[in-house]
Amino acid sequence: MIAKLFEVRETQGKGKGLFAKEFIPTGTVICFECDKCKVLTGIDPAKMTVKEKEALLDYAYRKKDGTYIAPCDETRYLNHSCNANILGTEQGFDIVVRDINTGEEATYDYRDFYDDLIMNCQCGEENCCKEVTFEHPVPPELLKYWEEKTSAALKLVNEVAQPLREELKGKLDVR
Ligand SMILES: [Zn+2]
Ligand SMILES: [Zn+2]
Repeated sequence: MIAKLFEVRETQGKGKGLFAKEFIPTGTVICFECDKCKVLTGIDPAKMTVKEKEALLDYAYRKKDGTYIAPCDETRYLNHSCNANILGTEQGFDIVVRDINTGEEATYDYRDFYDDLIMNCQCGEENCCKEVTFEHPVPPELLKYWEEKTSAALKLVNEVAQPLREELKGKLDVR
């Protein structure tokens, strides 16, 4: 489930993307796997072609435990960036790590997912890796880069308005 803060719009060259309808500050929890997000069963990546895997990546992602999750809503339109403004956390939710301005595209770092694909990247960021892989463990420098951003953002969780506060209640540690 993703916070209803975005509209789905065409991007230049990346298909559809999610764009902020309002200013979204660092520390805002943006999405998590809810009961309606589907766990896809019967998928064996060893028997799939690259094309099939790419098609799957369009609407689902693979987790550490090998399961594929198809988010229940527009989460699937969240595009990759090597300098993403949203990152995953150990707590099981994704958080804004850099303020997102109205009209700005929301992005996530797909290198967090598990797969054996290689995806070309043209995010245009200074630190663009050009070829996104989904192999683990991720390089230590990348892990450090993520950890610095997420730990700073997590400190702000109770300082900013949380649009998913009700939905997260009892599940995650957001006051
Ligand atoms: Zn969901
Ligand atoms: Zn990139």
